[in-house]
Amino acid sequence: MNNFLAESLFEIETAGLHRKLRTVSGTQGRKIAIDVDGRGSVEVLNFCSNNYLGLADDPRLKEAAIEAIKKEGFGSGASRLVCGNMTSHIKLEEKLAHFKGAERCLLFSTGYMANVGIISSLFDREDVIFSDRLNHASIIDGILLSQAKLRRYPHNDMAALEDMLKDTDGFKKKVIITDSVFSMDGDIALLDKIVDLARRYDCWVMVDEAHALGVLGKNGKGAVEHFGLEGQIDIQMGTLSKAAGSFGAYCAGSSKLIDYLINRARSFIYTTGLPPNVAAASVKAIEIIESEPKRHEQLWENTNFLKAGLKNLGFDTLQSRTPIIPIVVREPAVAVEFSRKLFEAGIFVSAIRPPTVPVNTARLRVTVMATHQSQDLQFALTQFERIGRELCLI
Ligand code: PMP
Repeated sequence: MNNFLAESLFEIETAGLHRKLRTVSGTQGRKIAIDVDGRGSVEVLNFCSNNYLGLADDPRLKEAAIEAIKKEGFGSGASRLVCGNMTSHIKLEEKLAHFKGAERCLLFSTGYMANVGIISSLFDREDVIFSDRLNHASIIDGILLSQAKLRRYPHNDMAALEDMLKDTDGFKKKVIITDSVFSMDGDIALLDKIVDLARRYDCWVMVDEAHALGVLGKNGKGAVEHFGLEGQIDIQMGTLSKAAGSFGAYCAGSSKLIDYLINRARSFIYTTGLPPNVAAASVKAIEIIESEPKRHEQLWENTNFLKAGLKNLGFDTLQSRTPIIPIVVREPAVAVEFSRKLFEAGIFVSAIRPPTVPVNTARLRVTVMATHQSQDLQFALTQFERIGRELCLI
């Protein structure tokens, strides 16, 4: 076994793809303290978290969690179907159903588990799934587990999708599954066109709103609100671990869909319920998203400023239209060096390399937060420019 591990790790290392964990001491904010070997902890500006609205360290979320701990204790003790279904779970499900304009909602412990559980319970080898080539790994894993026929269409290519949809004889159920905001490119699915195609070719639609909740739409309700498609998406999945600053995930849809998932989704049935305090903090996060539109506006102001600056400098930011801004540098080693130099300058942006992104598209994945201050953004731009020139990227 040791030989296998050593050889595999050597291969990963020589391809420049070795990954290491970094430790954050303290809280998740616009600044974070990272432990660095031999230097203790170093405070840097955080430009790589999904904590878009800065809620992960909000005192109101902490208070809500502490109150729930006092009332409901810490763990939920069992799976929801045994005796672990607690008041805070129900409150969050009701809150989310209302927020998403759906009949009902079901919590999952993580977004990964939600995608795997929803997809593998609804589809089987008699079905066909159309999946955008850049969909999140958890969608791909759900599809593999379902054993349905996978048809991957080129990213956001509606003509190619339509061609594939024309050839579906013999399959029982058909579904188009897409991220609404693509997590590594920061662009948006053409959801209006997808819904139109689904109607014409008699398909269901499932969207993953992980990076859209709290970000897209006038009221932060996601891509479904952004495109005005309320009531037209069969399966809406999303996470509470990103803009909501909390943890966990949900599926929103019809009452029948939720009843089905409670009875069939293995990643819901065979796992312990979320700690109730996590659900209570998520309820507070949704309340804040609803009542503080200023945060959402600030997120977009910051995003537009930083993106325009990076584009003006000549960086390749692909088709980003959200607070996720890729800077494509192609070679993994260059991405790692760029990230290292930024860290030295006090800016934390992680390098994203294959297999997370396609070969030859290694990048920095810059993310913006509502709580970034204008001097943070300005400082970041000067450092991106200086290091970008040193590495001959601009
Ligand atoms: N879907 C997408 C599009 C994601 O980006 C992620 C998280 N990286 C997930 C699902 C999984 O969510 P979680 O982190 O809650 O497991």
